[in-house]
Amino acid sequence: MSFNSQFHYNSRENIAKKLKRDKERGAFAYGKPADIITHEFGHLMLKGLPEQTIHKLEAYYQTNKNDLEQISRYAKTNFREMFAESFLQYRNTQASPRAREILKIAGIIE
Ligand SMILES: [Zn+2]
Repeated sequence: MSFNSQFHYNSRENIAKKLKRDKERGAFAYGKPADIITHEFGHLMLKGLPEQTIHKLEAYYQTNKNDLEQISRYAKTNFREMFAESFLQYRNTQASPRAREILKIAGIIE
């Protein structure tokens, strides 16, 4: 994984500024560089889930895709980003009821 130096990510200071701004406007659930790692780890976890669970998450996304603001706007992109953003929110910040619901479907929390 790497940061694209052509796009805000040309210094540690600019990365921190961009992430903070993105989080404040609700675009992403992450606000620190380490949060990106957690988000990407969420993608890996999703790949390891049973197929039946992945189908349940896809169905959940189809039903709720316009109501994922509690997590982030990026979570509305597709069910994979919905899951990665939910995982990040749960792991690194205060998980919203919506994120907790998604992680319950995934069997990650009770
Ligand atoms: Zn992602």
